[in-house]
Amino acid sequence: MALTLHRPAAFAKTALGACIVYAVLTAGGCARREPIQPTFGMSEPSDSWMRVLLFHNRTECAVSAPGGFGVRDENDTVQVRFPDTSEPIRICAEGDRISVAGLFLDGAVILETAEPFVFFIDGQGYRGNLSLRVCEPNSLQAVNVVPIEAYLAGVVGAEMHSYWEPQALQAQSVAARTYALYMKNRFGKERDWDVTTTQANQVYRGLAAETATVRSAVEQTRGMILVCPAVGGEREIFPAYYSSTCGGHTEDSQAVFGESFAALRAVECPWCRAIAKSSFWNWGPVEYSIEEIHRKLTGRYPSLAEKLGKVTAVEIVRTGSLNRVTGVSILGGNGKKDFLRGEDFRLALDPSGMKLKSTIFSLRREGIVYVFLDGHGFGHGVGLCQTGAEYLAREGRTYREILSWYYPGSEIVRLAESK
Ligand SMILES: [Zn+2]
Repeated sequence: MALTLHRPAAFAKTALGACIVYAVLTAGGCARREPIQPTFGMSEPSDSWMRVLLFHNRTECAVSAPGGFGVRDENDTVQVRFPDTSEPIRICAEGDRISVAGLFLDGAVILETAEPFVFFIDGQGYRGNLSLRVCEPNSLQAVNVVPIEAYLAGVVGAEMHSYWEPQALQAQSVAARTYALYMKNRFGKERDWDVTTTQANQVYRGLAAETATVRSAVEQTRGMILVCPAVGGEREIFPAYYSSTCGGHTEDSQAVFGESFAALRAVECPWCRAIAKSSFWNWGPVEYSIEEIHRKLTGRYPSLAEKLGKVTAVEIVRTGSLNRVTGVSILGGNGKKDFLRGEDFRLALDPSGMKLKSTIFSLRREGIVYVFLDGHGFGHGVGLCQTGAEYLAREGRTYREILSWYYPGSEIVRLAESK
């Protein structure tokens, strides 16, 4: 079905009047002071807001808010307002209760901000509200409850250079919005948060990641998400994965993550090579001893130790596009074998992904050491190649063209149309 796309409405502007609030933001090690822009989307229905897990294991935190905040518990039975929080207020878990500046509340509280709807927790600035809960005795869980467009401003600037081309930033915004909603729909119902702030989902740094160009990219694509064909002629939202530098060819999600989506298919990318950082395009050699490999694999997957005993050898047994490693056989001292997907193998050995930057590599054994050679690319290689997107944007391609290349068969729709 052909869809008519509407030009996104401008974000509702909230006048700050004479009160201009400044925040000290830190980016690239340089502190800068700039006025806090109004938070957009506060009037959107709260069921579309994102719930971002900030932390879950601290005994206390310090919260301030330029517009002050109100506190209520889950039953609305206690309401207190802190109109002036220029000095951070101490909040801590004491047993099963939460103490807010010495006021004790049961179990869970919401801190609702006022204009400009911003708060700082332990010095980090975020938009929207803050939900605090005692999950275990003396341990606080903090969740930022934030309108999705405001959330995205804190993601796009953390996941892509804010000085990159507007069309690349817009492609990134649509991908990140799609990914966030997919995660919320799929996992959010089972828990009291939707996403984390890390690369396990997508990196979110709140106000520290925002710039005017990032906010503009989010605004220009407001409410736009990707859908792709699903079984039965329906369309479905999908996890619009993206990674830094694909290394020349992206990969099917089935081969990398074990789940198939129509728009997450391998496509050629002859573009990232031209502008990628040389250390992202070529990496290696990187060495791991078989002892290290044993320790890291069985540390991440204890069942491997039960099944194989000592890991004595590894072997590439499946490859995808451009010889991307998609399957590794793990041989045990007891003669038994097991199998890991290439991406799982890489992240088990190097959870940071900074040494083994991708799964495009060859593997050579030299005595008790395995050498990873001929590495290309940075990241898992599924979906949008961010560096390729930047190249295409510099060549004058639009975010729509970029997205339709990296997510073949996908369509851009407005949020309401996807339901
Ligand atoms: Zn690429």
